[in-house]
Amino acid sequence: MAKHVSQTYQTAPVRLGDLIAEHKLLWAYCTTCGRERDLDPATIPLPQDYPVPDVGKRMKCSTCGSKKIETRPELYPGGIFAMRERWRGMPECGSA
Ligand SMILES: [Zn+2]
Repeated sequence: MAKHVSQTYQTAPVRLGDLIAEHKLLWAYCTTCGRERDLDPATIPLPQDYPVPDVGKRMKCSTCGSKKIETRPELYPGGIFAMRERWRGMPECGSA
């Protein structure tokens, strides 16, 4: 039985594994306090077939503790490589 992979792919949401494969970042936004952050999807402890919009439901804001987090694929120019360069130049935040 042949599977029509492309058909199911079109209706499926973007998944964590898609971001990792395409070297894209995960954008997380706290709808309570407005804090936003770009995350490396490879560091998120969820299955790679986890839908990106649902990742936010498993997250908690480190600033205000809210669980109302929105997550989307980040459209940062240059993707994760450009962002890693930026991270490298940033000071460590310590326990904050
Ligand atoms: Zn917050």
